[in-house]
Amino acid sequence: MKIESKLVHSGDRKKAGNYTPVSTPIYTAASYFYDSMDQLDRIFGREEAGPSYQRYDNPTTSALEELVRDLENGAGAVACSSGMSALHLALLSALIDRPRRLVAANALYGATTGMLMNIFTPLGVDVEFVDVCDLAAIEEAVARHKPGAMVMETVSNPLLRVGEMDRIATISKRAGAPLIVDNTFATPLLVRPLDLGASIVVHSATKYMAGHGDVLGGVVIADREHFDPIKTIARTMGPNLGPFESYLAMRGIKTMGLRMERQCANACKVASWLATHPRVERVHFTGDPSHPDHATIVRLFPKNLYGAMVAFELKDAGKPEVFRFMERLKMIVRATSLGDVHTMMLYPAMASHRDLSPKQRHKLGIGDNLVRMSIGIEAPEDILADLEQAF
Ligand SMILES: *Cc1c(COP(=O)(O)O)cnc(C)c1O
Repeated sequence: MKIESKLVHSGDRKKAGNYTPVSTPIYTAASYFYDSMDQLDRIFGREEAGPSYQRYDNPTTSALEELVRDLENGAGAVACSSGMSALHLALLSALIDRPRRLVAANALYGATTGMLMNIFTPLGVDVEFVDVCDLAAIEEAVARHKPGAMVMETVSNPLLRVGEMDRIATISKRAGAPLIVDNTFATPLLVRPLDLGASIVVHSATKYMAGHGDVLGGVVIADREHFDPIKTIARTMGPNLGPFESYLAMRGIKTMGLRMERQCANACKVASWLATHPRVERVHFTGDPSHPDHATIVRLFPKNLYGAMVAFELKDAGKPEVFRFMERLKMIVRATSLGDVHTMMLYPAMASHRDLSPKQRHKLGIGDNLVRMSIGIEAPEDILADLEQAF
């Protein structure tokens, strides 16, 4: 099945007795029993699939897991209570029986960098950060640091850089260090990291997957070789997504294909409009032919689906001018998060990259005049009109 069809069919319509519900019901039961004790014994022993206790499995959450597993062409998936919880589970399971050393991209989601520095480092994990767009530097860091695992994002935040994931995966395979990819910004509609050689994929389902700004969740999907420890650790630690949230996430995912196509098309229009606007200094967009990683994007992304995030720098502006500009927005939502059906704008210096010093931000290329937009499904004319009146 093609991904557009998997989106609406995978995981759903499991037979229940002598009828089949067209959509997966919300199962709230904490535990389950069977006519035969032998069967329950097999289920507890993981010889047979089926729910027994909610920390192990829940039919609603299992349906979501089957869906995202199919979207990413994985061997199995675990749905977690947040994207950060999913990343934590992925890192923990990758490092549990490997050297406590990580090679990580230097431009990661703020909380991910925070987790590596403030949780994994104090626990004894040695983290080496490297420029995700410098293949030679990655090769050198892996040879010198001998990591137990590697972690990167498909599209970096907020400057939207794209590393050569397939080649990085080759380096990771050679080093025996599973590559963990946060694919939140791209979605499996654009890039499927496991197909490119990565071992583990993570999403904040809060963003494009669920897509409606009404549920927090995350997923971990892995290939055959790396899935078992993820499930085992999840069964012990209980990072599970609850059945209500799983239902909402699954309902959202069904339209992800349509939303993403529209959002990517809108983003192209907004980015090219901004590129010629006199109030704009510079635009960062993955669909731009002058993007520094254009060759990689063309190689790894499908034609005309380049993502729906657009960052731009306002001309001659500092924090006060950016604040006034954002306060004048009437339709575009000034809120943290991304991937929702509505267009959103965020100020990285205040939000996602607040904890960095101005000097550190400057080093990463995040100026006080930079704003980041997540383009929604509205009529593109309305997005442009709102920006124009705010300028
Ligand atoms: C939002 C986000 C996360 C964290 O996800 P939560 O659901 O907020 O925990 C991780 N990675 C990226 C790229 C994100 O955008």
